Amino acid sequence: MFVKDPCGIICVLVTYAAVLYADYVVIRWIVLQTMFNSLWGPFNAVAFNTIVFFLIMAHIRAVFSDPGVVPLPQSRVDFSDIHSAETGCEHVDWTVCTRCEMYRPPRAHHCRICKRCIKRMDHHCPWINNCVGERNQKYFMQFLVYVAILSGYAITLVVVSWIKECPDCDPTILIKQSRIMHCIILLLESALFGMFVAAILVDQLQAIFGDETGVEQVQHKGPYRAHKSKYALLSEVCGQQHPLMWLLPCNSTSRRFDTPLIDYHI
Ligand SMILES: [Zn+2]
Ligand SMILES: [Zn+2]
Repeated sequence: MFVKDPCGIICVLVTYAAVLYADYVVIRWIVLQTMFNSLWGPFNAVAFNTIVFFLIMAHIRAVFSDPGVVPLPQSRVDFSDIHSAETGCEHVDWTVCTRCEMYRPPRAHHCRICKRCIKRMDHHCPWINNCVGERNQKYFMQFLVYVAILSGYAITLVVVSWIKECPDCDPTILIKQSRIMHCIILLLESALFGMFVAAILVDQLQAIFGDETGVEQVQHKGPYRAHKSKYALLSEVCGQQHPLMWLLPCNSTSRRFDTPLIDYHI
């Protein structure tokens, strides 16, 4: 599944460029310049690149995984009996999508960019060029967490490299100026992306704990649902495994979503 949306494709490329630039500055201008003769150098290089690896894994899974597209019916659906009592008696909360011309399960919404109905759709995110829905919200949140961690880590490295005395550093003025310039750009980039993802992460957690997707928040549907614990609501999104596993982008969450669809054939 890959959405052909120019804005989304540009945002995905900007994301990779920003992450690669941060990695370049940390390795070339911080680790190799200020930590080359201490054990902190290899430690920070490995730790930073491990977070980059998890970030990109989570991002790739969020971009390419199916967010929960409701399959189209095999044949055209007859909506003439839509208001009759018999139709959908066991599926009263199913709604009709006039664009896809089909019945869709509760909490599914139509995305105008993906041009399909998405189960438990939260919003369409250009940064992953995909919808955030039932099947990939976990990967989207992992991506946000890793961007937040990476931003905090990069800011810490820049600040420490400025504060700490560095007698062995290259005294050449040109090298010093380049290092300062790259560090300032990295600082601004990290602060900007860090605050941005932190705000979205808080928003996502509020939506999960309120049992409302981004789309439903407008409609205030959460308060009418049965009360569930915060842990239960989080594991609906992240999976039933141990919470420590929630941060690993290599875990599949697809098993629990196989709800049968109604097919109303003519
Ligand atoms: Zn639709
Ligand atoms: Zn979408």
